Amino acid sequence: MNAIIISVGTELTSGQTVDTNSAWLSSKLAEIGIPVLLHVTAPDDVEPLSRQIETACAQADLVLVTGGLGPTADDLTREALAQVMGVELQIDPALAEQVRAFFARLNRPMPEANLVQAMLPVGSRPLENTCGTAPGIHTRIGSTKVFVMPGVPREMQIMYEQFVLPQLPRQDTGSVILNAVLYCFGAGESEIGQSIYDLMRRGRNPLVGTTAKQGIIGIRILARASTAIEARNLLEDEIKEIRHRLGPLVFGRDDETLAHAVASRMIANNKTLATAESCTGGLIAKTLTDIPGSSAFYSQGWITYANEAKIRLLNVPADLIESHGAVSRPVAAAMAVNARRLAETDYAISVTGIAGPAGGTPDKPVGLVYVGLAEPNHCEVTQLRLGNHLNREEIRWRTTCTVLNFLRLRLMTDR
Ligand code: ATP
Ligand code: MG
Repeated sequence: MNAIIISVGTELTSGQTVDTNSAWLSSKLAEIGIPVLLHVTAPDDVEPLSRQIETACAQADLVLVTGGLGPTADDLTREALAQVMGVELQIDPALAEQVRAFFARLNRPMPEANLVQAMLPVGSRPLENTCGTAPGIHTRIGSTKVFVMPGVPREMQIMYEQFVLPQLPRQDTGSVILNAVLYCFGAGESEIGQSIYDLMRRGRNPLVGTTAKQGIIGIRILARASTAIEARNLLEDEIKEIRHRLGPLVFGRDDETLAHAVASRMIANNKTLATAESCTGGLIAKTLTDIPGSSAFYSQGWITYANEAKIRLLNVPADLIESHGAVSRPVAAAMAVNARRLAETDYAISVTGIAGPAGGTPDKPVGLVYVGLAEPNHCEVTQLRLGNHLNREEIRWRTTCTVLNFLRLRLMTDR
């Protein structure tokens, strides 16, 4: 069996929404060994949509459609499907009851328009929607199985797991594929690519590839073998080799973030942390406290954005700011040292910089950031020059990642 996935919505073809449904469905079909031939994106328009459904049914054994089942005039997937099947739409009394019951449960009157959602092409069957109003549709066109699901990603995913997946065969492809991602920070993609050049050869098993996103390099590893044990061994051996080559550049695997790496080391080393942020506006504190259980190491933070706040809350000497400017090495040092003293923690980090787009000068350009890391009897300040090609959000995020990475590296040598 092979499949074609059609996502429907003018918001997709116009670029207002990114199609994540197709990606999700493809990875789910891969799990059961069904290869996907094509992703098709069609607008909310009966003619092109019905043409795409028809073409897909001529090419694939399975066609999954998402979107366009809503109650409004621009939701036309039902009509397009009926047109391809050469049948009328007909109201299904049981479905009408379900749609009514959905609104009754929410204690809301049902808009008449929602009754459209109880219409099905004659000869098709409904798929229950347990978390929304639009039922899905299951039918056969020629020898092709067709499933139509809502566009809302969560509704689509639940309907797929509950009512589509059980109707699909599990294809034995004679091989098991396992994958993992290792994340690196502190070197560029090409530099990392050079260290693992031979492992990235095309056609190799395991297959290794890199992706870069905001300074974080992901190394994807895909291992294929005839049994799960062999695939697992292949994957883990490869991961060991890559970790060996890249050493401390690797900070995590799969779902692990830089903040996770910091949190687990902080807790393992029994250390505590405070933050004093200016240009990151609390992003470092936010990222750390996103981790459940972060209260075990994270004590408190300051967002001292105005000079006056740096002086009043962190006791940064006013003349230091006057003579060096707020974005300077001595101010970053004072912020970190004083934050650590005030919070009575083992470590404190500070950040002061120019996130742009305005505010840069020739000797203090956008992207200039000073990062302080204070610990007992020592404070190290590092200058970052992130470059004015980055926008404000990117500068704040890269600064946050760089700070977390400093902490991670420091904690690796601290016990
Ligand atoms: P429902 O039937 O549940 O009312 P629908 O089937 O009509 O929904 P749409 O109205 O097309 O679905 O989309 C509903 C929401 O889901 C929108 O926010 C839309 O951006 C999002 N959405 C639709 N298709 C996709 C997709 N392929 N990928 C990601 N998001 C999508
Ligand atoms: Mg739509």
